[in-house]
This record gives sequence, structure tokens and C-alpha cells, in this order.
Amino acid sequence: MNFNQLGLSAGLLRAVEEQGYSEPTPIQREAIPVILSGRDLMAAAQTGTGKTAGFTLPLLERLGERGRGVRALILVPTRELAIQVEESVKTYGKYRPLRSIAIYGGVSINPQISALRRGVDILVATPGRLLDHATQGTVDLSSIEVLVLDEADRMLDMGFIRDIRKVLALLPAKRQNLLFSATFSDDIRKLARGLLHDPAMVEVARRNTTAETVAQVVHFVDRHRKRELLSWLIGSRNWRQVLVFTRTKHGANRLAEQLERDGLPSAAIHGNKSQGARNKALADFKSGKARVLVATDIAARGLDIDQLPHVVNYELPNVPEDYVHRIGRTGRAGNEGQAMSLVCVDEHKLLRDIEKLLGRELPREAIAGFEVDPTIKAEPLQKPRSQQRNAKPRSHAPRDENRPERPAGRRRFGGGKDNAGGNRERRAARSR
Ligand code: AMP
Repeated sequence: MNFNQLGLSAGLLRAVEEQGYSEPTPIQREAIPVILSGRDLMAAAQTGTGKTAGFTLPLLERLGERGRGVRALILVPTRELAIQVEESVKTYGKYRPLRSIAIYGGVSINPQISALRRGVDILVATPGRLLDHATQGTVDLSSIEVLVLDEADRMLDMGFIRDIRKVLALLPAKRQNLLFSATFSDDIRKLARGLLHDPAMVEVARRNTTAETVAQVVHFVDRHRKRELLSWLIGSRNWRQVLVFTRTKHGANRLAEQLERDGLPSAAIHGNKSQGARNKALADFKSGKARVLVATDIAARGLDIDQLPHVVNYELPNVPEDYVHRIGRTGRAGNEGQAMSLVCVDEHKLLRDIEKLLGRELPREAIAGFEVDPTIKAEPLQKPRSQQRNAKPRSHAPRDENRPERPAGRRRFGGGKDNAGGNRERRAARSR
């Protein structure tokens, strides 16, 4: 099957061709005709399946010519995703007259207000900042024809359910609704029941499976020799673009600095960095200026980096599902990828949990010169607060850079002057 058979018009097909896509991915094959027919949709699709084009292309087709007022709203959980989805709207809509904008917190609201005033057809937004605009009367959502909830499961994880409900209350009752989620928890189903009318169901990727195009391997190594091994792997195998995961923000910074000292241009991305710094790190990595991007799990969510060849788990994640998310950064849409985990004696239990989730053992590979010293004993790993017994949310948690990054629900946003959305997001998270 090729894109010509999906009912998309010439301008969209041309844009797709320019992206070099030869055939639609499974989610695109299934979702595009449903969306074009005007029906509601509930889709199970993870990042990396081509879901963004799966909803953006038919959305652009349906909107047709430029209209009056905002006609499509795409709600996303994170700023990075807002930026990336809006870039996709621009890419695929290159030969369409439609105007789009990304609306997210942590940056000044004024340029967003000016852009909204000039007029947009498609809005890609995080819930908190969108509500700020709605409260100030700088956005009018009364002419929305299509609503997309992208990565709905993450939005719920991040405590956005109340904000989502507030947004829904501002939309006209008659509209098309599209819900995309990697997983279908009871909460998602509940949201879907209240939102979707007679939806078509599409499922393309099962939960907790990793792409077959990703070669996964475990290297056992001593705790204190991980960095040395990483630098050696990158240098000797001449990797040009490597995404590396650490468990803590401080660990991400420190590792990026150490790799720099080893002569490997590196950038770090995590929740304590300003939006500007995160955008710059990502841009440097995409352009090749930085060979290594060191990231924490939360910061890496939704990152779309084309054809990422190598992912390294410098430290295993505390939550086994995060391993699947991390690996999802490579081998996307049919490209081959490599994922390796550097595992020290402290992390054997984490590895067992991951393998249990995957239902198989990951292949081990010994690296000459980095043999494990059997006399080194395991030390306990610090757990994130959410997994500690009797963990209570603290409203004024002292900043501890060594602590693993907080789970998304209690994530701190913004930090800039213009942080109204961030406060709201925090309140929403706390009140769950
Ligand atoms: P997504 O799941 O939307 O995050 O997309 C994952 C990646 O797949 C993006 O980098 C897209 O550029 C790419 N992609 C989307 N559709 C196709 C396609 N039909 N063929 C090849 N790559 C695609």
C-alpha cells in the first residue's frame, strides 16, 4: 500500500514524499481513513509508530482552506512534544495555507498572544498554558472542529485530568475527537467514554514490547568504570549521535561534563533546565554539534529525534516500563537501532525486573578490558520518592540534585518569571 491510496490530496502527498516516506506505517494506514471519514477515534500507538503524521495528515486534509478562528486543537503533555508536533504540522502542511502555533508554558506568553491575534487554524498546546490564555481571553476555542489528545496516558500521569476537563468545557459540543495513548488504563478508558462518540478503535503496538529492529545488549561493568567504558564505546565505534540515560538530573549534568573532558561534545537535558536551555541542547544534538545527549527519563519523553542509531542506558531506570520508553528512541519507523545497557552490581534486580516485563533475557556481551571485579559488593540504589514507603507529596521539598528525578505527577515546571501555567500544573498535580 502507498500513500496515494489513502485519500490525501496532492499537496499533502508531496510533503510526505519530500520526507522520504515510501509507505504509510500501520497506524497511518488504519487511522487516516477513519479520521478523513469524520469519525471519532481511539488509537493505541506509542511514540515511534508514525502516529503524529497519522493524525496530522488527515487533519490538514479535513480543514482544507484557511478558516476563521481556531479549528483544530492538539493537546499534548509536554513542551517538547508541543514544539515537535507543531513542527510536524508545518512540515506536512507545507503546501497548505493553514497556520499553526505551539502554545506551552515556561516561556513568555506575549509572543503567543500576538500570534493568536494574527490568527491560527491549528493550535498545539499543553493544557496549563492553554487555560492561561483562555482565562485571559486571548484564545477563543468556540470554533474547534477537531480535538486531538496526544499521549493521553502521559497527560493523566502528569496530573492534567482536571485541566483537560476544563479545556473540554470550552469546546463546542459538536466536534471530532481523536485520542492517542500508548496504554489503556482504567483512567484512560473512563476519559474516552466521556469524550468519544462511537469511536473506531485502532491498535498497532502492544504494550511493553520493544521494536524488533532494535538490537539490545547488556554490558556488565563496575560502577566506577561506567564512564570510561561509555567513552571508549563511543570513541572506538565512532558513534556520532548517542542518547544516554541517567537516573538523576545531577548525574546527567556530571556525565555530560565528564564526556566533554574526554573530548566528546555533549549536552544534558533534564527537568531543572530552562526551556531555552533544553531547546538548545536538543538543537545542538540534532545538528550534530553535540555527539552525546545525556537525558533523564522525564526530560526524554516525547523527544522525536529522527533515526537515532544508539541509545545507552548508563543507569537502568527504576521503573521497568521506562526501559521500553527509552529503547523506543531508537529503531523508529523501521530504522535499525542499537540499545545497550551498562549494568553494575547494584542494578541486577532492576535488570531482572526489566527482563520479566519483556518476557525474555537480554543478550550479554563482555567487553575485553572491562571485566567485572567480583569482590565489589552491591550498594543500595536510592529510590524515587514515589516508590518509598509512606511517600507523601511535599509541597516544599528541599532540592536534592542527587535524588532521582521526581515522577511526572509531581514534576516542577517552569521557573521563569512567566510561570502562571507552571503553578497551575503544580496545583493540579498536587491535588490529585
Ligand atoms: P511518531 O510516532 O509520530 O513520533 O513518528 C516517529 C518517526 O517516524 C518520526 O521521526 C517520523 O518522521 C517518522 N515517520 C512517520 N511516518 C513515517 C513513514 N510513513 N515512513 C517512515 N518514517 C515515518
